[in-house]
Amino acid sequence: QAKLHSKLSHWQNKAIKAGRRALDVDINLAVTGLSGAGKTAFISGLVHHLRFASQTPQYPFWQAAQQGRLLGCKRNLQRDYHVQRFRYDEAIASLCHSSPTWPASTQGTSSISLSLKYKTQQQLKSWLGDTHCLNIKITDYPGEWLLDLPLLRWDFKQWCEVIDSRYQHHAAYQNFKQKCREINWQGGADERVLESLSTVYTQFLLELKQQGYSWIQPGRFVLPSTWQNTPALHFVPLPIELIDNIQDGAQSLLQLNMKRYAYYVEHIVKPFYVDHFSEFDRQVILVDGLSALNLGQAHVEDLQYSLNELNHSFRYGKQSWLSRLLNPKIDKVLFAASKADQITPDQYANYQLFIQHLSSQPAQELNYSEVEMQYLALSAIKASQLGSAKHEGQDYQVLTGQLKSNQQTVCLFPGEVPKSVLSTNFWQHNQFDFASFLPPTGLSEQAAFPHIAMDKVCEFLLGDKLQ
Ligand code: GDP
Repeated sequence: QAKLHSKLSHWQNKAIKAGRRALDVDINLAVTGLSGAGKTAFISGLVHHLRFASQTPQYPFWQAAQQGRLLGCKRNLQRDYHVQRFRYDEAIASLCHSSPTWPASTQGTSSISLSLKYKTQQQLKSWLGDTHCLNIKITDYPGEWLLDLPLLRWDFKQWCEVIDSRYQHHAAYQNFKQKCREINWQGGADERVLESLSTVYTQFLLELKQQGYSWIQPGRFVLPSTWQNTPALHFVPLPIELIDNIQDGAQSLLQLNMKRYAYYVEHIVKPFYVDHFSEFDRQVILVDGLSALNLGQAHVEDLQYSLNELNHSFRYGKQSWLSRLLNPKIDKVLFAASKADQITPDQYANYQLFIQHLSSQPAQELNYSEVEMQYLALSAIKASQLGSAKHEGQDYQVLTGQLKSNQQTVCLFPGEVPKSVLSTNFWQHNQFDFASFLPPTGLSEQAAFPHIAMDKVCEFLLGDKLQ
């Protein structure tokens, strides 16, 4: 009798353990954005918030935190040996230094894993024990890589047409085209010619990036990751007339160039979607609309074009060709209007609308797509402090922060953020000047950072998994 009883309770325990394991959920969060959008700062801040949220009351819109159900957070060893470690410790060290600096931007993909322990409020789950675990993997990857998505559909000539129409106004691109015209594309396939031409083209793309433009193609030319200096990146777009007029021989330079384009698409662009993208559950896209506004009309239009392109990766209805290529799982996308600490709170709503307009997602469309989308103005590490000042009898919200350019502490009125894309007429008479701040001083390695809307971020991304 006693033996039978102990056997039964052994199996009962096993069943409960297995049930609990089944309820410990894994979630893959992906974070992207064009270079400088704030991915590194966001992920460092997010991880720090997750680690210390259970100890502070500063998350009113994150239910699990607000209800006191978060019990703690533990960092896990990295399971993906082929992806770089996200440099969280290094980032926190530079942010918490007595003279804080923003962490160095990441290149390529990197990831970090955590487990969040929480108390459930669901009857069914609580039968298997009060506390459960949400395993969170956060992956960081360059938004530039998403801009390569259309290459999967375009043949070489279609790609050249797009490049030509986008870049024709840049003098450096015209110089590059001239160099292409001087080459005999019908002649023998000389690798060195392609290598040196691709260097000229990459230099042009790097200059665009330097000037703050976002639509850069092919994306790996400026962020090559492990493909640096390989023949896979030694090809170039060609002026259309050259492609049309060439009587092509099988061994020609043109053929080699086209072969490499095909290789890039098949072995670099496609595997990213198949190996990484298809594994993501939820996606954060950071967009720095304020820097684009500072730079002017051409940059805002460029960002708009890029966001629209980038959005195609998330508009995969059942019929879309991307769904046929792989089986994406992403069910929520957060468009984050980043660096919101550079504007006053009365402008957050405008900033969100502005980013929504730029990414051409009319509000009414959001709820109909299969992917739930949200727009939020945020800052994972708030670098400014809010105050108020009187001007001609009226109260205005103002910000105090330490300028990145000269380390001076200033109190300023940043001005308004537009709600939508602006007319040429507006740009002829106005400009923007949103200040860049250094991180705040006095951040602690052992306490949550000041933030804007990170509670809403956590609720949107994790809330349903922490029930
Ligand atoms: P990444 O290239 O997308 O990883 O961008 P980073 O995270 O490296 O951010 C680029 C720069 O933007 C940083 O060096 C900071 O100057 C600034 N930045 C990023 N996040 C914030 C933020 O939340 N607030 C402010 N004021 N500046 C930020």
